[in-house]
Amino acid sequence: MAAEIQPQPQARKPCLLSKIDAFQEVVSTAVIIPKEDGVISVSEDRTIRVWLKRDSGQYWPSIYHTMPSSSSCMSFNPETRRLSVGMDTGSICEFVLSEDYNKMTPARTYQAHQGRVTVVLFVLEMEWLLSTGQDKNFTWHCSESGQLLGTYRTAAWVSGLQFDVETRHAFVGDQSGQVTILKLEQDLCSLVTTFKGHTGNVTALCWDPVTRVLFSGSSDHSIIMWDIGGRKGTAIELQGHNDKVQGLCYASHTRQLISCSSDGSIVIWNMDVTRQETPEWLDSDSCQKCEQPFFWNFKQMWDSKKIGLRQHHCRKCGQAVCGKCSSKRSTIPLMGFEFEVRVCDSCHESISDEDRAPTATFHDSKHSIVYMHYEPTTGNLLTSGTDKIVKVWKSTRSVLATLESQICGGVDLEPACSFIKTFILGPSVSVIIF
Ligand SMILES: [Zn+2]
Ligand SMILES: [Zn+2]
Repeated sequence: MAAEIQPQPQARKPCLLSKIDAFQEVVSTAVIIPKEDGVISVSEDRTIRVWLKRDSGQYWPSIYHTMPSSSSCMSFNPETRRLSVGMDTGSICEFVLSEDYNKMTPARTYQAHQGRVTVVLFVLEMEWLLSTGQDKNFTWHCSESGQLLGTYRTAAWVSGLQFDVETRHAFVGDQSGQVTILKLEQDLCSLVTTFKGHTGNVTALCWDPVTRVLFSGSSDHSIIMWDIGGRKGTAIELQGHNDKVQGLCYASHTRQLISCSSDGSIVIWNMDVTRQETPEWLDSDSCQKCEQPFFWNFKQMWDSKKIGLRQHHCRKCGQAVCGKCSSKRSTIPLMGFEFEVRVCDSCHESISDEDRAPTATFHDSKHSIVYMHYEPTTGNLLTSGTDKIVKVWKSTRSVLATLESQICGGVDLEPACSFIKTFILGPSVSVIIF
């Protein structure tokens, strides 16, 4: 095994492994089945299909089930092989898949919403089925009894939902651009706080329970990293997309955030670097560099016989400056700006080439992405596009490969790692993964 450690072993280009292109309509959600070389898809064409990779390298359907109406979303739990499918009609249909993924048995139907189900999330630890719908309700059901436990009315319809098992907080991202944090008890729900940072809809949410960081993606093209674990209220913006953010996944073993947008771009962010918050924009009636008045400052314009200028802001220091004092552009990756932004002349001088080193890599999936799913044990990524095609990519190192490189690559071993080594080199490799 290679003893060499690359400075950024995880920064590899996603490589296309397979395509599934047998759909009549767009696939609204699809997930990779861990351990199996398989994919579950729910589509606007009313089908639920399970695909298994055959020896030929092609995916073939092992289950093909037609629903009475379109499916909008799903949640799959690999441990129990329970599949919860949200429908256009507002109901959620639950199925249990057989061990060989060749059979699907209906288990229960929940009449959860008055309109299309927008997100469904099954939480095994609580035996809860969380869901949101176009009726602007967030509901949670007991998945053992099928009973409705509670409902919370949201400000707008919800497009992102995450849950922290340890503290029982639900993160709800909606079309008004805000993220609502709710504390759930068995049948009680209380509003903790709301995060407002986006100027467009929240389109995706991703929660990492280890670092306790919440990522929100938006139609305003930006991603915000809300550092809840840091307890300092830090919110860092990540600007690396030119279109609506459509999906967010966090690979905790390689500390990478994977994001995608509707223009087909996939961005892999190195989250091992410390980023800074962007400054508040300062208010001023004149340029904070050359002191020329801005155009609304009639008094100074008259007194100094000068023409009023348009106000701009330096993205690095936040100062209000005129166009002449901020003529240069720069990337500021450590502030999340992977694209060139306006900076004042003195800030431009202070940014070194080293500071400009990108902290993300950019890739083209060659289809307009509507949904993305990441499977950490294999490091595989799935994208579903408006072209009705599902693509499976090798995107990052798998959990196993990362552990192997840490153990065999000369990194100091923590005492706890030595038992992992035994397993990795022995036959029971799968034990450590699950
Ligand atoms: Zn100026
Ligand atoms: Zn500046």
